[in-house]
Amino acid sequence: MTEPRIRVHGLEKSFGDNQVLRGVDFTAEQGTATVLIGPSGSGKTTVLRSLNALETPERGVVGIDDVEVDFAALPAGKAGRAQKDRLRAQSGMVFQAHNLFPHRTVLENVIEGPVVAQQRTREEAVADARVLLDQVGLADKADAYPSQLSGGQQQRVGIARALALKPRVVLFDEPTSALDPELVGEVLTVIKDLASQGWTLVVVTHEIRFAEHVADQVLFLDGGLIVEHGPSAQVIGDPREERTRRFLKRIL
Ligand code: ADP
Repeated sequence: MTEPRIRVHGLEKSFGDNQVLRGVDFTAEQGTATVLIGPSGSGKTTVLRSLNALETPERGVVGIDDVEVDFAALPAGKAGRAQKDRLRAQSGMVFQAHNLFPHRTVLENVIEGPVVAQQRTREEAVADARVLLDQVGLADKADAYPSQLSGGQQQRVGIARALALKPRVVLFDEPTSALDPELVGEVLTVIKDLASQGWTLVVVTHEIRFAEHVADQVLFLDGGLIVEHGPSAQVIGDPREERTRRFLKRIL
């Protein structure tokens, strides 16, 4: 049997006296969508940011494909940074706000990573970017500037930009929480399409109905621990834990 695409074991992370992750474990198979839900402050974003070493946990292991980092054993200095860079290169991240370069066109935003960070040829990057822009429904906006787009369109460019790096997994940190309600659906639809195309996704979201429809597995976090995990029909449809039930009751 091949190993799961994502392997997380024993993640512990504190900010000062505040222990935010208390031993988080999970795995995710290739081609599946994992959705993290839970109360504000439960540690969802910290888990996500640990997957690409934007946060450095004190303890725990993160493996994505053939790259594995044992945070407790991370060497100091350059060697440690090199390990974290290798892990980071395994994933593409879509943030709450799109962070597009305002003075570059949509196409230039999408090809920046492949050309600058991955030294791919401009021709190849442009060809790939056009396919990706088509996929997120923005083929006709390649030459537009970010300010000419709606928030939902900008966020879809952000998704195309993450995919352009050909990552092993795509991480979404509350991808719709900065959007006006009427723009949420178009972004969630794009993420849903990616899930059905076989991308491996990890999504932090408050959109429980979306989680219910898209997730292969749902992780419910509370107080820095995964309190309950399983298929969405179980965790959202028929939760076993009182804490999960209380959270869902509040949010739905
Ligand atoms: P969630 O995504 O579930 O809302 P987070 O992972 O963002 O939770 O945050 C968990 C806890 O960690 C919160 O109490 C938050 O205030 C704290 N925290 C997150 N990032 C930092 C940071 N950079 N410095 C200090 N505290 C942080």
